[in-house]
Amino acid sequence: MADIERYDIAIIGAGPGGLSAGVYAARGGLSTVIFEKALIGGQITVTEEVENYPGIINSITGFEIAEQFKKHALKFGAEIVEEEVKAIGLEGLCKIIETDKRTYRTKAIVFATGAHPRKLAVPGEEKFTGRGVSYCATCDGAFYRDKVVAVIGGGDSAIEEAIFLTKFAKKVYIIHRRDELRAVKIVQERAYKNKKIEFIWDTVVQSVNGDNVVEKIFLYNRKKDKISELKVDGVFIYVGIIPNSGLIESRVKCDENGFIITDENMHTNVPGFYAAGDIVHKTLRQVVTAASDGAIAAFSAEKWIEENNQNFDNI
Ligand code: NAP
Repeated sequence: MADIERYDIAIIGAGPGGLSAGVYAARGGLSTVIFEKALIGGQITVTEEVENYPGIINSITGFEIAEQFKKHALKFGAEIVEEEVKAIGLEGLCKIIETDKRTYRTKAIVFATGAHPRKLAVPGEEKFTGRGVSYCATCDGAFYRDKVVAVIGGGDSAIEEAIFLTKFAKKVYIIHRRDELRAVKIVQERAYKNKKIEFIWDTVVQSVNGDNVVEKIFLYNRKKDKISELKVDGVFIYVGIIPNSGLIESRVKCDENGFIITDENMHTNVPGFYAAGDIVHKTLRQVVTAASDGAIAAFSAEKWIEENNQNFDNI
């Protein structure tokens, strides 16, 4: 059994939720391992500007705030392991984590795997991904200097990223399926004032078309029952997020969209298994709420480990 690594707590996912859990768990004296298979910092690293994290008055990039979170967790002794978790054993009191490299046993888990962008699922979307279709304005916006782009969606991501794209593009269409935005008012107002932005309401994308790269999209106006063509060089899709819940599917209680249901201590229905960040069923998905989830989850896990410590003899 020498090849089994043992920690008090494992945190799966190094976004704001997971890294905040790492700060609290490690500072609370738990031996802490944080797993990340891709980007330390998670989705926030590809956000151009974070301007609503309390205390950071001058805005900060998503990458910078993620770096601060990471350094903070490391400062208290959390270990960040860049291995992909392949399976999680939740059956016994001890949790088992299989990565692509080794096996870990821990007393508790904070699951903070986040979410990924929802696809539009229209013809041409897949074919042109990376050739005009993008899910990341921060990554790809600079390729559209003086070009025309369409942003699909009416939530915070769509509107914020559309505003960001006006730094490069000469024209940004926001195409929304209703006549009312979902994004918060302050962001809506900024978009309405931006002369480069034009809204196309009550409209969905039917297809993305072109030869080698995106050249146009076909639109369907649901109120007018009318199809039209719009010439664009790029299409940025922000139509919501899907939870990264594959590892725990059907074993942990989730809502109808796959987001994990927790109590106020971020405890799931599985003893010793906590959740934090965008993967959680909640109304406000922000860096600050992910960080709050992580703090609560780690604190609750610490108490839970303390209460059950006499039963962990074999770990
Ligand atoms: P979201 O809030 O779920 O918005 C998705 C948008 O896409 C909605 O406007 C929705 O229309 C539209 N949509 C969904 N499916 C569609 C389809 N098949 N075709 C066309 N349109 C479709 O997603 P999000 O903007 O990615 O945000 C995710 C979470 O992160 C939210 O909780 C958000 O508040 C948060 N967030 C916060 C910030 C910030 O505070 N700075 C920034 C980004 C994201 P309907 O409105 O008609 O449903």
